[in-house]
Amino acid sequence: MKGVLVILEYRGAWNRMSWEALAAGRGIAVQLHQPLFVAVAGAQLDTAVADLSALPLARAYAVRHSLLHEYTADGFIPAFEQLIHSLDPLLVFFPHTYQVRDFAPGLAARFDQTLIADVVAITTDSGHPVFVRQLLQGKLNADYVHTGAGVCFASLQAGAFRVDMPVGACAVEEFVPQLSPSQIRSQPGERFRESAQTVDLSAASLIVSVGRGIKEQDNIPIVRELADALGAELAASRPICDNGWLPMERQVGSSGQSVSPKVYIAVGISGAIQHLVGMKASKSIIAINKDENAPIFEVADYGIVGDLFEVVPALTAAVRKVKSA
Ligand SMILES: Cc1cc2nc3c(=O)[nH]c(=O)nc-3n(C[C@H](O)[C@H](O)[C@H](O)COP(=O)(O)OP(=O)(O)OC[C@H]3O[C@@H](n4cnc5c(N)ncnc54)[C@H](O)[C@@H]3O)c2cc1C
Repeated sequence: MKGVLVILEYRGAWNRMSWEALAAGRGIAVQLHQPLFVAVAGAQLDTAVADLSALPLARAYAVRHSLLHEYTADGFIPAFEQLIHSLDPLLVFFPHTYQVRDFAPGLAARFDQTLIADVVAITTDSGHPVFVRQLLQGKLNADYVHTGAGVCFASLQAGAFRVDMPVGACAVEEFVPQLSPSQIRSQPGERFRESAQTVDLSAASLIVSVGRGIKEQDNIPIVRELADALGAELAASRPICDNGWLPMERQVGSSGQSVSPKVYIAVGISGAIQHLVGMKASKSIIAINKDENAPIFEVADYGIVGDLFEVVPALTAAVRKVKSA
């Protein structure tokens, strides 16, 4: 029994990217006719175990040890190494989190493998997985194929895979790794805390997002009115937040929030890769841009080529009319 193993991240709460990695793992497991496994490491995993038992998996593994209470690469690498040796899967997937960046290359090295990091897409047309990574700030896509024997390790970029997990049931197996205190050479410091966010865009089901096409801060209300009429959250591309036209917490993208609303309306946003990675998991994308060749149209489900200063007020009026009817 080979299979696809997805290593999830749980530190008292799930890292949202875990579910994206799981969705990717599930897609590949189905295509390759392989069983799907997940694993999570820690000391207090009761809530995590309850969550995992409601997923449609071949099996979940709770890798539990008191020395895994705090994350250290010293503990996580040998713990997952032992699990992978006992399971012997074909593929091991991770969400590309900061924690994974820290330990996954070392884990792969224990198996004489490299980590195919920050993957944005996977195809199996040729019967084996082909991993797509972006090079040169997204200007080039490169295909990576695992050759040779042994397990293949890949981490998956935030926002690249749409979370779509049906409810199910699976057995959760306890896996107690052999660890000794002398192995844990690093001392975890205080956990990094991101600045408190008053806006959780990741929970929004409707987002209207504004980009540099808006020209100046005084024009922002044009887009805010559309958001208000729709009952949507207002978000922005980076230059808008860098300029202080909207607060930083409304920024979407690789250095902002990752969002996956039902509808994402991009207004005057070109579609730079750093913006796309934060919003391309949206279920439906509508782009308004006066440049018909803007890259945003490549990911858009609906596109309006036009001047936002004409299109947006007309849309707002139409929405208000429908809502008041
Ligand atoms: C390390 C790094 C991290 C980054 N992180 C992020 C991030 O998290 N989020 C992010 O968004 N960016 C990020 N960026 C910046 C990113 O590369 C782009 O510069 C940025 O996304 C561009 O924002 P924009 O689309 O609003 O502006 P532009 O690229 O300037 O696009 C403006 C668009 O508006 C259109 N337009 C102009 N006038 C009108 C009009 N009247 N009507 C309709 N359309 C009009 C234009 O055709 C154009 O397509 C990052 C960059 C780096 C290097």
